[in-house]
Amino acid sequence: MAKLAYEETFDCVQCGYCLPACPTYLTMGKETHSPRGRINLVKMAAEGKITYDELDGPINLCLGCRACEVVCPTNVQYGKILESAKDYIQEEKKKEMPKRVKMFQDFVFYKAIPNNKMLKTAGSGIALYQKTGLQKVAHKLKATRVLPENLRSFEKILPDVEGPSNRKKRQEFYPAKLRPSFKIGFFVGCVMDTMFSDINTRSMKLLQLAGCDVTVIKEQTCCGALQAHAGETEITKQLAKENIQAFERYDFDYIVNSIGGCGAMLVEYDKLLADEPEWNDRAKRFAERNVDISVILGQLQLPFTKEINKVVTYQPSCHMSNVQKRVKEPFDMLKSIPGITYLELPNKNMCCGSAGIYNIVNYDESMDVLNEKMKHVNKVSPEVIVTTNPGCHLQMKLGVEREGYSDRIEVVHIVELLAEACGI
Ligand code: SF4
Ligand code: SF4
Repeated sequence: MAKLAYEETFDCVQCGYCLPACPTYLTMGKETHSPRGRINLVKMAAEGKITYDELDGPINLCLGCRACEVVCPTNVQYGKILESAKDYIQEEKKKEMPKRVKMFQDFVFYKAIPNNKMLKTAGSGIALYQKTGLQKVAHKLKATRVLPENLRSFEKILPDVEGPSNRKKRQEFYPAKLRPSFKIGFFVGCVMDTMFSDINTRSMKLLQLAGCDVTVIKEQTCCGALQAHAGETEITKQLAKENIQAFERYDFDYIVNSIGGCGAMLVEYDKLLADEPEWNDRAKRFAERNVDISVILGQLQLPFTKEINKVVTYQPSCHMSNVQKRVKEPFDMLKSIPGITYLELPNKNMCCGSAGIYNIVNYDESMDVLNEKMKHVNKVSPEVIVTTNPGCHLQMKLGVEREGYSDRIEVVHIVELLAEACGI
């Protein structure tokens, strides 16, 4: 049975230092939607003072950005408390869930999201929709009005998805252009490799250029982040074990990704499997070898060939900063690009409101957080907003579109700028 992280709630001394760092407290203004309030509610649920459905609303509306954890003076393990609450709520909900709904959920989380072929087919469908002009016709005829508002918004800002012929050009091995410094296993991710597969390919080419042998192994699967956010711990553990088994067959120095959110899940596999002794060491070894691309590129030399003469700001991914604790590395990479003028985004550490599928399932609340973010973007008026995670990328694109800035502000992944400056 799912166990709430009750003991951990006692680490909270109710000081409230975390309140100004919490985006949902900022936008909703309620104690129950602050870290301190949520910790209290988890404690009360564990003591049987409130029911799981009273806990559900405040927990469901938490972004999981973990900004509260970073500022907490007593090191409250908010992530652990949150995951335990999600797990508990999901388990209780499943008891009342019709069997068909439960089977559908299991299918989505275990079969559909991690299924490479299914995602590639979906990606090909989107590419077809975009490249045959169907998207333009649909917009002209206002046919997308039949979609609910959340999907309609994201349909407008879909990136150019690569078709199957382009994706087939991806090599399974990119040999180092220089004497190899590191042997890299590249983690492609599910959503990332469907919507932004080109960024993955350019990541591999950058690593190759910097002197790494890069291999994409077929046996890898979904990191489990979306499943973990939904409280599906058993499925998450299963996916983690599949990834550990897949990568440990190879002798890689590092496992590298360009996805802030997935990277955060991968580096916490040891915590996820902490209660399974036979997996402890293997999970720890796997987690330690997983790093963001900026960590590797920062140790090597990229042969820049072009200046990027643009005014650039940076929206860090919460999971990159607060969970992976990679704050300096992506920032240093960005500042190393020749020609850029960097402007600091005020309150840049506040979440953009993307948070996995939060912006789809809690659309209105997510847009409130995004509006706060865009107030800060307005203060710096950049030409380019740089991100390091596909979710943040789409959310910032949506923010730019909602403000009517699409013709003057570009949203890019840091890899795109680095690749351009290296002539890739
Ligand atoms: S979580 Fe940390 S910062 Fe927030 S109220 Fe509790 S002790 Fe204070
Ligand atoms: S994880 Fe983010 S949204 Fe959730 S309580 Fe902490 S700061 Fe607030």
